[in-house]
Order: sequence, then C-alpha cells, then structure tokens
Amino acid sequence: MDLLFIISGITALVILGLGFLVYSRNKKKKINQYFLFITFSVVIWIGGVMGLSFLHELPKQQALILGRIPFLGAILLSGLLFYFSQIFPQRTVLVSNLANLLAFTFCGIFIFLSLFTDLILRDIIFRDTFPIAVFGPLISLFGLIFLALSLSSIAILALKYKNLRRLERRQIFYFFIGLTLSIIGGSLTNLILPQFKLVVHLYQYGPLTVVFFIIFTTFAITRYRLFEIRVILTELLVGLMGIILVILPFVMPTSSLKILTGAVFILFCIFGYYLIKATHEESKRREEAEKIAVQERALRGRAEKLAREFERLDRAKTQFILATQHHLRTPLSIVKGYSSMLLEGSYGKLEEKTKRVVSGINEAIEKLIKLVNEFLDISQLQVGREILKKEETQIEKLIEEIIEELNPSAKEKGIYLKLEVEEGLPKIKLDRTKIKTAIFNVIDNGIKYTRKGGVTIRLKIKDLRLKIIVKDTGIGLAKEEIKTLFTEFFERGKEAEKIYTTGRGIGLYVAKNIIEAHRGKIWGESEGKGKGSTFYIELPLE
Ligand code: ADP
Repeated sequence: MDLLFIISGITALVILGLGFLVYSRNKKKKINQYFLFITFSVVIWIGGVMGLSFLHELPKQQALILGRIPFLGAILLSGLLFYFSQIFPQRTVLVSNLANLLAFTFCGIFIFLSLFTDLILRDIIFRDTFPIAVFGPLISLFGLIFLALSLSSIAILALKYKNLRRLERRQIFYFFIGLTLSIIGGSLTNLILPQFKLVVHLYQYGPLTVVFFIIFTTFAITRYRLFEIRVILTELLVGLMGIILVILPFVMPTSSLKILTGAVFILFCIFGYYLIKATHEESKRREEAEKIAVQERALRGRAEKLAREFERLDRAKTQFILATQHHLRTPLSIVKGYSSMLLEGSYGKLEEKTKRVVSGINEAIEKLIKLVNEFLDISQLQVGREILKKEETQIEKLIEEIIEELNPSAKEKGIYLKLEVEEGLPKIKLDRTKIKTAIFNVIDNGIKYTRKGGVTIRLKIKDLRLKIIVKDTGIGLAKEEIKTLFTEFFERGKEAEKIYTTGRGIGLYVAKNIIEAHRGKIWGESEGKGKGSTFYIELPLE
C-alpha cells in the first residue's frame, strides 16, 4: 500500500470521526445532523477515489460501477452543502423555495444518472494500472451543477457573514476557508484537470484536499468553539498525539533518538495535561457565565415589566386621587359653610353646649379640608398638571408670616421661635403659597416635636443656593427614621405619636414634593433620639 492511500484512508476516518463527534454533541440539532451527512458524502467520495486504484484488477462491469462512486459522493456533497449553508449557523432565508426544489431535484436526477447510466461516466480505460475516465455526454452538465451548488453554498455563507455576531463570524470564516480550499482542490484534481487527460494519476490527490477542510474546521472548533465540541476535540487530539508519541521511542533506530523522543513524550504529557485542564476550566467558566447572563436577562425583563406596571398603577392612582379629591372638597366646604353659619348664629342663637359641639365639628372639618388640600397639592405636582406660579419673593418676609402664624402655639408650649437672617438676601422666584406650605410644615414639626427649648430658623446664601435651616431642641430622630421621613404616610415614631397624636405623617412628604418641584433639596439630620433635629431646605437662586 502506498503512502497516499494510507493518508487518504486516515483522512476519511478523521473526517468521519469529526462528523460523529459533532453529531453526538447534540443529536437533535439540524446543523449537527447535516454536518454528519456531509462527512458521509466526503467519505463516499474518498472511498470511491481510493477504490479507483484497484479497478484494473476487476472485471469491466464491476470496475465501471465502482468507478461511478466518486461521482455519487461529489454530487451528494454539493447538494448537502447547499442545504447546510442555508441553516448554518442559523437558518436564514436567502434562497427561494423554488430554487431549493430545483437544486435538490437536479441533485437527485444526477445521482441517478451518475450511478445507473453511462451519460456521465461511459467507460474506463487503463494506462498501466491508472484508470482513465471516458466521460459521457452529460459530464459538463454534471460539473456545472456540482460547481454551481458548491459555489452557491460558499456565496450564501459569504452573504450571511455581515449579519453575524463576532464569534460566529470567526467560526464561519475558518469553516468557509477550509471548505473553499477543499472544493477548489477536489474539483481541480478530480473534475477539471482529468478532462484534459494530462496527468493520469492526479485524481489520487483529491482526498488530500479534504485535509484543508479538516484543519480549518478543527481550528474553528478549538479556537472559536464551533459546534461546541472544543473540549472533547482537544482531548482527542491530545490523546492521538500522545499515542503517536508513545510509539515513537520504540521504533526509533538509535538509543539517543529513543531518549529524545521519550523526553518529548513526557513533555507532551505535561503540556497535554495543562491544555486539557485549561480547556475544561474555560468551558466551565463560560457555561456559568452564560447561565448567569441568561438569568440576568430574564431578571432584567421582569424588572422592566414590573417598572412599567408600577408606572401605570402609579398614574392610575394619582388620577384616582385627583378625581376623588375634587368630589371630597365640595361636600366638605358645604359642611364647613353650614357649621360656620351655625356658629355665627345665622340660624338662631345656639345654646352654649350645642355651640361647643358645632365648634368641634368646625375644627375637625377645617383639618380635614387642609389634609385634602395637601393631597391635592402633591397629586397635582406629581401629575404635572399644575405648573408652579412663580413670583419674586422676599423669603424672610414669607418666613416672618409663618412665624407669626405659629407663634401662638409656640407660646402656648412655652418654647422659643427664633429667626436669624443673613443680611442682603436677594429676592427669589418661587411659588409663594406652595413654598410657604412646605416651610410651614417643617417649622410646625419643630414646634410640635419639641417640649422645651425651641426652634431656630436660619437663612443664608451659599454656593448660589438659599439655605433654610430649621433647628429644634426636641425629641430628635433615630437613624432609621431619617431614611423614611419624606415618604408618603411615614410610619410615625412612638415618641412623636405620644407628643402629637393627630399627626398624619404627610407634612414632610408634601414639603419634599414642593421643594423638588422648585429643583431644590430637603433633608433632615439628628444626632439621635432626644438630641433635637435639624431640617435643611436648599433652593436655587434663579
Ligand atoms: P406628622 O408630623 O403629621 O406626623 P410629617 O410628615 O410632618 O407628619 O412628619 C413625619 C414624622 O417625622 C413625624 O410623625 C415625626 O415622627 C417625624 N418628625 C418630623 N419632624 C420632626 C422633628 N422636628 N423632630 C422629631 N421628629 C420629627
């Protein structure tokens, strides 16, 4: 047996092994199945070409049948490649159904013609032991179809290239190079050059061209994870090399060569061990990273959905509140109107006892109206319905007004209320009524939550911002409280509940909404329980 024959045989075995390896990795995947079919057709072709060397020993009829096998392999290969290129790495519709139907019909017809008629291969004659094909009349058409299908496959892969991800591009690129070289080599040695009958034994070299395909595909597999069989293929290659290297010392003629090859074998074992280990680790890492990426994507999707849902609910809630408030305010104002009129004696003089009751009702209703108004303020700010009505305001005047309103309650508790103003404060553009509500709520809290001592309000300008600092000597705030102070319906501190029972936990929330609508900031600080609190409001000077 000559060397060429042995190499052809090994090539066939290797490509078949590769085919099965890819197939066993994922038997359900179409590209893996078709890759195996492609290797079958290559093996048929290689086997057929190898068989040609024995034809001269066979009777004419049998020789002719065997001589037709390479044609079967070739046309089968081109048809399979044509299909494979459409589904690899993913299916993309680039070829119409009609073109596919035509291509596969032609393939079928030519498989039949090349096997069972003498329209393609008419006869075989021999020069020495080398067979020379006597082609039939349809050989040119056969060649044309083979080339058309093969070249279309290459063209389809090239067309897909642009839209692929980077990794897939690399995979397809090497697969493509290997395929193109093999097809060119195979066609030249077995189809085109034999037509000129120049070198009769050229056909034998055909199978060797498949080595290009094997090398490039293997490179794409091991380097760029084509077909995801990198780990196992690396192991196989290392194993194969190991077997060859372990035999070498025994067949070497001199002992120094034996030692040398033995050493190479040991080195290779170490190298192989680390290579396989690294491949394993890398693949595990990648699998884990992929798993995490999938989870992350799912979570992100869910979070986005929730956020959208939340936004929708929030909008619905605000709309609902807005509508309700309008309906609440009207009857409340009516009740308030009547109770005031009752108190004023518009419906006759009231007895002292009744007067007390009606006055209680009046006060309660007033509080309720204030609460509803606060709600309305926030909701309108939130839905952006009400634009701030800004006007030039002398802020210290505004705060003096508030102090005037709050002084009676401070006096009643026996605590002080001080205002310290930096000189020369400029006028600021603000929505007077709203800002007054916000600052009022903060100072009011200072009074409410202080038993002795008092509240100091300081006004100053810093970094082009107005700072309003409201410092009290009251019950102070715990760390956890500070975080949630400005949330809607703040869970009130126990201490605060004791001191001021009718608090609603909404005053600071209102203040925050108003201040933020003015592009300002509000926050609270405290050294701890019992150590007083300081609230800061910052407003930009416009
Ligand atoms: P309300 O005072 O109506 O309960 P707020 O939103 O104004 O609602 O305040 C929320 C809570 O923050 C209060 O219940 C109280 O626990 C706490 N708080 C606010 N201001 C102060 C302060 N100056 N000192 C101590 N605690 C305060």
